[in-house]
Amino acid sequence: MSQGTLYIISAPSGAGKTSLVRGLIEHLDGIQVSVSHTTRAIRSGEADGINYHFVDVATFERMIERGDFFEYARVFDNYYGTSRPAVQALLAAGQDVILEIDWQGARQVREQVPDAESVFILPPSRDALRRRLADRGTDDDDVIARRMRDAISEMSHYDEYDHVIINDQFDTALADLESLVRARRTRLDRVKETRGALLEMLLSRDEGVE
Ligand code: 5GP
Repeated sequence: MSQGTLYIISAPSGAGKTSLVRGLIEHLDGIQVSVSHTTRAIRSGEADGINYHFVDVATFERMIERGDFFEYARVFDNYYGTSRPAVQALLAAGQDVILEIDWQGARQVREQVPDAESVFILPPSRDALRRRLADRGTDDDDVIARRMRDAISEMSHYDEYDHVIINDQFDTALADLESLVRARRTRLDRVKETRGALLEMLLSRDEGVE
């Protein structure tokens, strides 16, 4: 069975990562987003098992001890982690898998899967980032300042990634992301895995070709 490709996608909050990933999934078949576990509180509009598996700290720590996580990290006071068996099952079924994780998790994944493709998404300007962070429910200056500090700290890791996409025009950024996945699917090793029968048939000498 062919193995899918693992994609790591990171961004500061406010860069539009979630919308881009949603767009990508709508445009392409054979690619899925891994649903992480987290100890943070569920937000309105989110659903357990869809956005995250929401668990308490004791459950998360038990999962760490059991080695259930492919990667995990503490991000802004909460635990976040990717389930190892869930990702392995998807990849083994030939699905491409997207991990929407922070830079700490990205480092752990790169160590285990060196040919994972990693992408960092940046906002087009500081002002655009500040505006998007301010739109998120509160105008409290302290809260926005803290979100900006967190975003800048996440962005400082952009140069650890294979690709950087600046989300200026959404459609262009989405096309860039999509072409990256499409290009990866044309790699020789991948085509040999996924289209082996066709390659054999094309080269067979059954019809008396010299
Ligand atoms: P949020 O709470 O806003 O959904 O996510 C906060 C941060 O946690 C984001 O940077 C997001 O990429 C990161 N994150 C979400 N899931 C995971 C995960 O499974 N592992 C790691 N390392 N980071 C995650």
